[in-house]
Amino acid sequence: MRPVRTILLASLVLACGLQADAARRATPAADALAADQPQLMVGRLELAWGDLRPGTPADGHARTLFKAALVDDAGVRRPLDSTEALRAAEDLYALYGRRVAVSTTPVAAKASGEPSRKIDAIVPIDDLQSTAGRSERPLARALAGGEKITGVTSWVTLMCKFSDIATEQKTQAFFQGQYGTAIGQLDHYWQEVSYGQINLAGSQAYGWRSLPQPRSYYVTKDANGKDKADLGKLYTDCTAAFDPDVNFAVNGGVQGINLMFNGDLDGYAWGGGRCSTLDGINKCWSTTWNPPWSFNNLAPLSHEMGHAYGLPHANNSDGDSDPYDNPWDVMSDAWNNGVSNATYGTLPKHINIYSRNRLGWVVAARKRVINAGDGNATVTVDRASLAGSGNIQMITLNYPGVTNRYFTIEVRRKTGNYEANLAGNAVIIHEVQTGRSEPAWSIDADKPAANRANNEGSMFKVGERWVSADRQFCIGVKSETNDGFVLDIAASGRCQIRSRPGGVQQAATALNAAQPGGDAPRRTAPHAIAKPGARR
Ligand SMILES: [Zn+2]
Repeated sequence: MRPVRTILLASLVLACGLQADAARRATPAADALAADQPQLMVGRLELAWGDLRPGTPADGHARTLFKAALVDDAGVRRPLDSTEALRAAEDLYALYGRRVAVSTTPVAAKASGEPSRKIDAIVPIDDLQSTAGRSERPLARALAGGEKITGVTSWVTLMCKFSDIATEQKTQAFFQGQYGTAIGQLDHYWQEVSYGQINLAGSQAYGWRSLPQPRSYYVTKDANGKDKADLGKLYTDCTAAFDPDVNFAVNGGVQGINLMFNGDLDGYAWGGGRCSTLDGINKCWSTTWNPPWSFNNLAPLSHEMGHAYGLPHANNSDGDSDPYDNPWDVMSDAWNNGVSNATYGTLPKHINIYSRNRLGWVVAARKRVINAGDGNATVTVDRASLAGSGNIQMITLNYPGVTNRYFTIEVRRKTGNYEANLAGNAVIIHEVQTGRSEPAWSIDADKPAANRANNEGSMFKVGERWVSADRQFCIGVKSETNDGFVLDIAASGRCQIRSRPGGVQQAATALNAAQPGGDAPRRTAPHAIAKPGARR
């Protein structure tokens, strides 16, 4: 159904000349009059992720929060149901900060309730304009899954004090130092993660200024008595406090704004986008909202900056509701298996190869796509952290014609400034489904999957083998090299689950043979795995 909806919406947007939203704004009563009609809204897609402070008692707090909104050209912000938005968009996160069209239809009102609206589709306007109405994105771009971020990405840190809190936890020099190019500092880290494709040159920290209001103005109670931070007020007042002295428009607009607050927010640190006009530039600014526990450690701050660059969470495949249990990835478990720094606390690990590719940082020469139906291949894969590699660093196992489900293969090693405390040297496999809240789940051979993915089952090593549930793909780890592994890959569709050397059949049941392109149930393991009992 999704392609049909997309085509219909694309046609509607083009036929209306993108005027639907503007026209409705011109008649104030039109919203009410149109309540029972399909509606088309146009604007920028604003996304933000909230991350609960680790160790917070689970007294009804969601571990993670996610907000989606559409911001039109007049700055009017319309919240979108995030579950609906994920379902309605082919790849919601690929639309982060971009101009989109959202079509909604009314659903039957309950007897006493307000009529509500269902999101039918969310499509990028820039794609429609650039491809003259073609309804499908090129496969390569769909697999890349987002906007490429390269070059200078300057940030500003704004240090804001609640008017009723005097504490200044860190100095301006500390925050300026976070942007440094030495090991353990943000410019160094993001250059390393991006293979030198971005840097943070020109990033600047601006020292403590008071907000006009006390914390209670920005952090209120929701209906359940839990703290609720008004990200809009925090952003508006903090940027306004520095606006006379900060040129947000430098270099065509800074990439992002790290907001540092001298008190707790709502128990969460936040990262994502904020669509607004600063110094005459209207765009969605990469933004983070940090309480002291976040800015005291480079790992959580980098996690929020990752969201602000447009990255969703990574996850393991244990099926629980916790997206913070993959310690191979700063966008999941930022804290465990990290390297510690005397000044900047827990340092960030790298991000998975899916996320790197999302931001356009894996060049074509380092990628290998293997399609279902292809024959056998032997591929040497270097660790994902190696800059200037001459070998492949990302393998994508792809079903032809399917863009919303595929597998990625990468190598991780316990080495370097940020990855030295990883759980091991291993091949790591992710299953990607673009429509789920955390698209990339690391695959675990253990059944049930470990609660935290730093277990042997999540690491494929020499002599071990993985087979997809539909037996389309099988990967054998043949040997180890200085910087990675040699893999035997078969995409023939005839992969067999091997017996153990002693003749005992592997207990590798396909729990759910997900159909290519289908909507597999989210909380099952759509793959079969064979790991021999003894390693060579
Ligand atoms: Zn997060």
